[in-house]
Amino acid sequence: MSQTELDVLREKVDELNLKILSLINERTAVAREIGKVKEKQGVNRFDPVRERDMLNLLKEHNDGPLEQPRVEHLFKEIFKSALDVQEKEQRKALLVSRKKKAEDTVVEVNGERIGDGKPTFIFGPCAVESYDQVEIVAKAIKEKGQKLIRGGAYKPRTSPYDFQGLGLEGLKILKKAAEEQGLAVVTEIVTPGHLEEALDYLDVIQVGARNMQNFELLKAVGSTNKPVLLKRGMAATIDEFINAAEYIIANGNDQIILCERGIRTYEKATRNTLDISAVPILKQETHLPVFVDVTHSTGRRDLLLPTAKAAIAIGADGVMAEVHPDPAVALSDAQQQMDLGQFDEFYDSLMKFMKQYEMNR
Ligand code: PEP
Ligand code: MN
Repeated sequence: MSQTELDVLREKVDELNLKILSLINERTAVAREIGKVKEKQGVNRFDPVRERDMLNLLKEHNDGPLEQPRVEHLFKEIFKSALDVQEKEQRKALLVSRKKKAEDTVVEVNGERIGDGKPTFIFGPCAVESYDQVEIVAKAIKEKGQKLIRGGAYKPRTSPYDFQGLGLEGLKILKKAAEEQGLAVVTEIVTPGHLEEALDYLDVIQVGARNMQNFELLKAVGSTNKPVLLKRGMAATIDEFINAAEYIIANGNDQIILCERGIRTYEKATRNTLDISAVPILKQETHLPVFVDVTHSTGRRDLLLPTAKAAIAIGADGVMAEVHPDPAVALSDAQQQMDLGQFDEFYDSLMKFMKQYEMNR
């Protein structure tokens, strides 16, 4: 075959490619319209019976040289691509999405503007154990000029025989100690039943990893006017995490802070695997502030500082870490909470890092 013959054939192939491309896009546009109609009717997008009919029609008209299985395979890919486009569009239309709202949501708590560009911090013990314990930590937080304190009063523990938290009594302790130091309270609520009595004692409702898909709880916190810190479930995909936040906003509450806290993988070196890339993905996909919990993700004191630096460097709006006056005797998470000296060091190093980082940016 001479060079010119080859050129002619290649030109034909190029032309056909463009035609196919244009047809596929035209088909996708029609499929998108079908998707809209189905959405209005509340009908499922994927219809296997219709898909089978389309494939049968193609088979009937296939004169080759492509073999039937190949034709079926190619067209199934085209069908699937059209469905993906529709799903993506639906995702972009979520209330938490950037598509719906381009500007960053800023959650204001106790004078802190979470999500407004400058990292914020949530420190405090894993669980509220006593007034004295919380007071010591609250004072250390205040000394650093920080405005928020965390602490669990309802603790979702793996074993029913482990410390379950002080409940309402714990909330009262936390609020008293926080108020005395001018701090706002971030605390976990595990069931809608506790919500009403707890609202007077907290400023930010935490929904824990184990409850990320407790849809009744999500609806209940969505109906309050308190900010919600929503943690990623330990086996949740980013998509599931975003949809959990959507439950809250769909019920009227847009004051949501997302919190990456590590996911379960086969890796045993850390308690969970911190999915650091979830931070920029969540920032791109949603308009909500994104926190990183360095304590529960790593489960290791020696990794708190490097992961906190990584969180800030990658664009997190804040960091959560646990602090206890005497971690060795803590009633939960004894291995990973910082004592007060470690807290000082952690905080100073992080502030230094942030200053350097700002300078070099
Ligand atoms: C917590 O922050 O107290 C906690 C239990 O974390 P998680 O829900 O992420 O496990
Ligand atoms: Mn903990």
